[in-house]
Amino acid sequence: MQNYIDIANKNGITLSNNGKCQFCGANTKKGVNECLEISNLGFKIIDFSLLENHIYRFLIVDAHALQHPEIHGRWSNHFHLSRLHLIFKYDVKWTYKLSPKLSDYLNKYKKNKPQEYLTPPKILKRGNITTTDILNKATNETECKGFIKKWSIDVYNTWNNHHHTVDKIAQGFLN
Ligand SMILES: [Zn+2]
Repeated sequence: MQNYIDIANKNGITLSNNGKCQFCGANTKKGVNECLEISNLGFKIIDFSLLENHIYRFLIVDAHALQHPEIHGRWSNHFHLSRLHLIFKYDVKWTYKLSPKLSDYLNKYKKNKPQEYLTPPKILKRGNITTTDILNKATNETECKGFIKKWSIDVYNTWNNHHHTVDKIAQGFLN
């Protein structure tokens, strides 16, 4: 994740390491750095080693990436939005094995659509739930899972301009 600073620079964004997260508005003290750390390590109340909990790891990664696209490569939006679409609209029970398969499919897809760009919703307009909301409000595992689900659906919905695009990707992937 270290190269997120380089990617932000390339996108013409200066990262702030103070105060609230500049991308999602999370109530952090050290900005996006802390926001990233919470998404990577913060929800310890969930035992991610259990197979049935893997889905929450995927939802966290996708929600956070789509809420902070400026610190990721442009094609990562295709990946994370397609994965959420497959999970929410096609009820795919995602596993770690499926992620490289989706990446492979997207690598082929990119070759036919080299110019395609999924324009993100405006900064701070990518859902009303943030990492710190979940961290501060969830008092037990069930609540934490509920917040993560809401968060990911909320972020997914703010990208609705591109649902038709990822629907084609989802159908291609499933075939
Ligand atoms: Zn954030």
